[in-house]
Formats: sequence, C-alpha cells, structure tokens
Amino acid sequence: MPLWAELTRIGFIRAAEETEVAVMVTGAVEAHGTHMPLGTDVILPTYITETVAKRTKALVLPPVPFGDSWIFEPYQGTVSVRPVTLIAFYADVMESVFRHGFRFIVVVNGHGGNVSHLRDAAKRATDGGDRAVIIVNWWHDLGKEARRNVIETIDGHAAEDETSEMLYVRPELVDMKSAQPAVSDSKYIVVSANYRSELYPSAVHGDPRPATAEKGRAIVEAAIDELIELIETLERGEIPIEIRQGY
Ligand SMILES: [Zn+2]
Repeated sequence: MPLWAELTRIGFIRAAEETEVAVMVTGAVEAHGTHMPLGTDVILPTYITETVAKRTKALVLPPVPFGDSWIFEPYQGTVSVRPVTLIAFYADVMESVFRHGFRFIVVVNGHGGNVSHLRDAAKRATDGGDRAVIIVNWWHDLGKEARRNVIETIDGHAAEDETSEMLYVRPELVDMKSAQPAVSDSKYIVVSANYRSELYPSAVHGDPRPATAEKGRAIVEAAIDELIELIETLERGEIPIEIRQGY
C-alpha cells in the first residue's frame, strides 16, 4: 500500500477500507559516536517500514523524528523532546489514527529513550474498546536470530549491530574511519545530568569496528520479514499474546 502521507483523501478512504492496521515510526535525532548520522534511529525504522509498506496493506504514517534523547544532550547535534511533550504528542497521534477506524497501531520504534513514553501514550490512547497499540522496539524485538548469528560483539549504541544496519541501508552516511569502541557500565542505575558523558562515553556503547553491510543485510531483512508476519497476524484479527498455562 502507498504511504499514508502520499495518499489523496479519496485514496486514503479506499486504502483504509482494506486494513485495520496503521504503522507509526518513532525515532530520535542524537549523536551516534562520530561515525554514524544523527538520524540513525529514525532512518533505520523508516527504511524497514517503507519496505514493509510495499508488501502489506497496512498504512504507514510519516515518521516522528524526535524522541527523548536527554542522555545524549551533551553531544553536538542532539535534539531532545521532554517526556511530557512526547507522551502527549504520541497519544494525540494514536487517538487521531484510531478515530479513523483502525483497530491496531504498530509502533516501530528506533530508540530506547522513547519506550516508556510510548507505553504511557498507548495506555491513554487505548482506554476503552478493543483497540491495541503494539510497540515493536525493532533493534531488540526483530531479527533476534539473525543478530545472534552474525554479530560478534555486544549490542549497544552505535555498536557493531547498528553500524552494520546503517552500512547496509545508507552506507554513504557512515564514516568507518572514525569508528571507535567505548563501553560504560554500572551495577546500579545512575541518573545524573552531570555524568551523561561518563554514562555514554563518545555516544557509543559497544564496538562498531567489526561492522559490515552484509551483517546489516541479514538483520534488516529478517526484521522486515518478521514485521510483515506481525502485520499479517493483526490483519487476521489476532493479537500476538501467548498464554501459557502454568509456565
Ligand atoms: Zn541508535
């Protein structure tokens, strides 16, 4: 199906009759080491969903580029939105989409800082009725097996996995010459505006140096297939919840 924002009003009416699923992309504009573009967290899920749009009937909304990037504010180029704004914004978009008659919104999220805000917005937007928001943290939920097979170092931020994905999707935006590893750890959750550079040294967590486009292709293609599977499940009216008696 075409993308939501590219349809005419009449085209939208026809397309919306064919599906109960809308897809929302949420990302971030923030530092990713010195080797990756600031828009990495919106570029990757946008690529995935635009590819999926060609193979399903689900309507794909234009991406929300900004997210909660508080942790990366010390680094040049980061644009961060406050949680209160994000929750209200996400909820407004979800409620508006639901008013058009969609039953499911699949959020393909590209950024960890957005997760709790998406959850809060979805609680608000699904109050009453049988509507559901399914939040897919794509870097974690999709392509898991492919990741396990190809990635040699830890998952992280601007690390081997994410750098590989970007080398596959937009290689011209990656500067591998400046790719450097960094890792910061604590036994506890340390929260401090003053220690953000220590919490995320160089805006990297992991080692981007072993990244390749081939590894990225394996992950991104698996992610696309799994997202299509999820949308087809929802199109059948099924919710992806497994109930196990006992455990
Ligand atoms: Zn990222």
